[in-house]
Amino acid sequence: QCPWGAPNTTSISCSLADVMSEQLAKELQLEEENAAFPEVVAVAEGPFITGENVDTSSDLMLAQMLQMEFDREYDAQLRREEKKINGDSKVSISFENYRKVHPYDSDSSEDEVDWQDTRHDPYRADKPTTTPRKGFIGKGKDITTKHDEVVCGRKNTARMENFAPEFQVGDGIGMDLKLSNQVFNALKQHAYSEERRSARLHEKKEHSTAEKAVDPKTRLLLYKMVNSGMLETITGCISTGKESVVFHAYGGKSATEDKVIPPECAIKVFKTTLNEFKNRDKYIKDDYRFKDRFSKLNPRKIIRMWAEKEMHNLTRMQNAGIPCPQVVILKKHVLVMSFIGQDQVPAPKLKDVTLSSEDMKKAYYQVLNMMQQLYKECNLVHADLSEYNMLWHDGKVWLIDVSQSVEPTHPHGLEFLFRDCRNVSQFFQKGGVAEALNERELFNAVSGFNITADNEVDFQEEIEALEKMNEDHVQNHGKKLSMFSSDGDPPIYDE
Ligand code: ADP
Ligand code: MN
Repeated sequence: QCPWGAPNTTSISCSLADVMSEQLAKELQLEEENAAFPEVVAVAEGPFITGENVDTSSDLMLAQMLQMEFDREYDAQLRREEKKINGDSKVSISFENYRKVHPYDSDSSEDEVDWQDTRHDPYRADKPTTTPRKGFIGKGKDITTKHDEVVCGRKNTARMENFAPEFQVGDGIGMDLKLSNQVFNALKQHAYSEERRSARLHEKKEHSTAEKAVDPKTRLLLYKMVNSGMLETITGCISTGKESVVFHAYGGKSATEDKVIPPECAIKVFKTTLNEFKNRDKYIKDDYRFKDRFSKLNPRKIIRMWAEKEMHNLTRMQNAGIPCPQVVILKKHVLVMSFIGQDQVPAPKLKDVTLSSEDMKKAYYQVLNMMQQLYKECNLVHADLSEYNMLWHDGKVWLIDVSQSVEPTHPHGLEFLFRDCRNVSQFFQKGGVAEALNERELFNAVSGFNITADNEVDFQEEIEALEKMNEDHVQNHGKKLSMFSSDGDPPIYDE
C-alpha cells in the first residue's frame, strides 16, 4: 500500500464510445498491469529511494526521508547565500560546515564540482562540526539538533575513519552508512581492544628478535670478542630489559698478560633502539661530567655514553670495595663485566629470594652501608636502587645497573637519592626488619644532611631547596658547594 495515498480507481461507465476509446484501452491495460505486478506499483519517486524493497511503512524511514528533503532544500539555500556573499571575490567563504547533506552522501552528479573542491574531509582528525555550539541548526521546522539520528549516524561513520589505521572500517561514508551511537560505541570498543592486542603481539615479536639476535653491528662486536679469545663462548641471554640485553659468557684469555678475565662474564648490550632512552635524558643531560658532550652527540653516541657511564660508575664502586660486577672491557655500547652467579645461573634479585630474618637484617645493614659508601666515597647516587637491582650472592648483596647513577650535586641528585631511600626503606620494612630506618631517616643517614621535616611533602620541599641552592651557587661561582662532599674531597674523576 502506497503511503502517499491510494491511487484513484474510478468506476467506468461503459458506453460504446468509451469502449472504442483509445484512452480507455490504455487505462485498462495499465490497470491490468498493475494487478499483475502489484509490488512495482506506485513506489514514490524520490532521490532517496533506490531499492525495490524499501519499507515505507516505517515512520522512522518516513521521517528521515522528509528530513533529507528538508536538508537538501536547506543546503540549496545555503549555497545560494554562499554565492551571494562571495560574489566574484577571490577569497571565498565556505558554508560547507553548515551543510547538512554533504556531497559525498548525495547521489546526484550535479554536485561533482563541489565534491572536488569543498568536500568535508572525513580523514581529517575528528571534526564533527556540523552542529554549532548551541546544539541545533536551522530555523523553525528546519531545526536539526545534534541528536538528529541521520546527522549523528553520519558523524559516527566519519568518526569510525579515525580508528586505528589497521582497522578495516570499509567504505561506510561512500554508502552513506549511519551508525547508531550504540553500534558505534561497540565498534569503537572493539577497535581499541584490537589495537591493544596487535600492539602486544608486536611487542612480543620485537622482544623475541632482541633475544634471538642483536643487531648485526652488535653481533660483529660480540663475534670479535669471541674470535680474539677474550671470551670462550657466549651461552645465552640472561635478561631482556627495556634498555639493555644481558648475555652470559664464559671468559677466555686476555691478549695482555696483566689482565685476568673472570671465568664467567655478563655482557650488557645497551639497546640501540632509541626511543627507550628518551626518558633517561634527564639523568645524563644534567650530569656535568657529560655536559659539554651531550649537546653535540647523536643518539647512537648517547647510548654509548650510557655504557661508558656504567663502566665509570662500576669502577668507582669497585675502588670503594662495594660488591658489584667488575668491569672487563667496554666496546662501544657493549659492556663486559664479571658475572654475579655461578654455572650460568645468575644470582637472584633481592625481590626474588626468601631470606631468613637474620639474613634480611644482615642485608639491610649492608645496603645501608653501601649507600653511605656510594655517597661519600664514590660521590654517587644510584638513582635506580631497589630490590630489582640488588642481587643476593655469596651471602651478601651486590649492586648492579648503575648506568643512570649520578653525582649528588646533579640538579636532581638528592631527589633520586630520596627515591632510592624510599625503595630501600619500604622493602626492608615490609621484609620484617624492625631496625630499618624510614625513608627520611635513611636519607639523612646516607647524605649527612639533617632535614628535620617530619612529613614527606615538607621533606621533599627541603630537598628541592637544597638542590636549588646548589644550582644557584654553580651559577654564581661556577663550582659545586663543598657541603655536598662533607668527607674531604670527592675522588678524582679520571676521564
Ligand atoms: P636493566 O637496565 O635492563 O635493568 P641490569 O643491569 O639491571 O639492566 O641487568 C638486567 C638483569 O640482568 C639484572 O636484573 C640481572 O638479573 C642480570 N644481570 C645484569 N648484570 C649481571 C651480572 N653482572 N651478573 C649476573 N647477572 C646480571
Ligand atoms: Mn635493572
